Amino acid sequence: MVVICFGTRPEVIKFSSVIKELSERKIPFKTVFTGQHKELFDDVSDLVPAPGYRLDLMKKNQTLNHIVAAIAQKLTPILNTLRPTVLLVQGDTTTAMTSALCAFNMNIPVGHVEAGLRTFNLNAPFPEEGNRQIISRIAAFNWAPTELSAKHLKAEKCSNVEVTGNTVVDMCHNLNYKGEYGNTVLITLHRRENFGEKMKSYFEQIETLAKRYPKLEFVFPMHPNPKVQENRDLLKHVTVTAPMGYFDFLKAVSKAKLIITDSGGVQEEAGTFKKRILLCRPNTERAEGVKAGFVQLVPDNLIEAFEKVIHNPEHNIDNPFGDGKAAERIVNSMINRFPKLNKHD
Ligand code: UDP
Repeated sequence: MVVICFGTRPEVIKFSSVIKELSERKIPFKTVFTGQHKELFDDVSDLVPAPGYRLDLMKKNQTLNHIVAAIAQKLTPILNTLRPTVLLVQGDTTTAMTSALCAFNMNIPVGHVEAGLRTFNLNAPFPEEGNRQIISRIAAFNWAPTELSAKHLKAEKCSNVEVTGNTVVDMCHNLNYKGEYGNTVLITLHRRENFGEKMKSYFEQIETLAKRYPKLEFVFPMHPNPKVQENRDLLKHVTVTAPMGYFDFLKAVSKAKLIITDSGGVQEEAGTFKKRILLCRPNTERAEGVKAGFVQLVPDNLIEAFEKVIHNPEHNIDNPFGDGKAAERIVNSMINRFPKLNKHD
């Protein structure tokens, strides 16, 4: 049996194609939901079956170490009962790191989905960079989304590194949304590094562009963080909405003419729908999109960058983050090593 641990919305999204693949191939699995981000789970909960176990560990003002201790305490008896052949974690959350460590301590092989992303700065993102480095060292399977992440893992001499593509790309493929270039410029900005003067400047430039291009609709689903919201009144010609549900957002991505964002995940998703991204950051840990040519770093001058691409935003570059077959490769990789999984142990 396979056990899959997740605790946040992105983990649910990025595990959904793996869970679908296991279900279709009738490979037994159980899911454990730690509830690390309870409030973000609802709009994607239909992507996966109801969790087999819910740890419900969140309490007010919990520290990271409280979460670690609570997961370790509650997950251990579950793993003792189930004794899975392999335990899967995704990404770099405290849920992923702690679940992996619990399994490792119990001699249960760990499979890491989306392994090998690196900034090499333990403080940024914190604690995610530390979490992902820890998981890589103890994982029995390191499934890297891209060649670049595989290169990082091989340099660290991690076990069983395999390039699979990113499972979020599988998810975007499964939606079958038709990519078209509509009339909207879709915007998301919320990263901590941009708070303050940087954010204000991006907002002012977006307002200038929205005024200058009245035939385009500038749509900005705005993060509730007060550090983002404090600039809201600068936007008089922009349609500001509440954050969109995941599928509404992906639909908006699929129909946009151009995307302005500082997000990490949006870079992977937009590649599937062949959208250009003006990335409001000086760098990115997902260098593949920049290298492929559809992501452009915009550390300051958004107006100039926008005017260069807006008249010719279409492209036909393959998504470097995956081809929609990551889950198939991940499940094949497990079966190759543990053929008994196929025999429904
Ligand atoms: N997203 C969403 N609704 C929105 C804006 C974004 O569902 O209104 C999704 C988006 O598709 C992506 C994720 O939220 O998968 C990105 O999250 P965020 O930008 O907060 O984090 P990052 O990817 O930078 O870690």
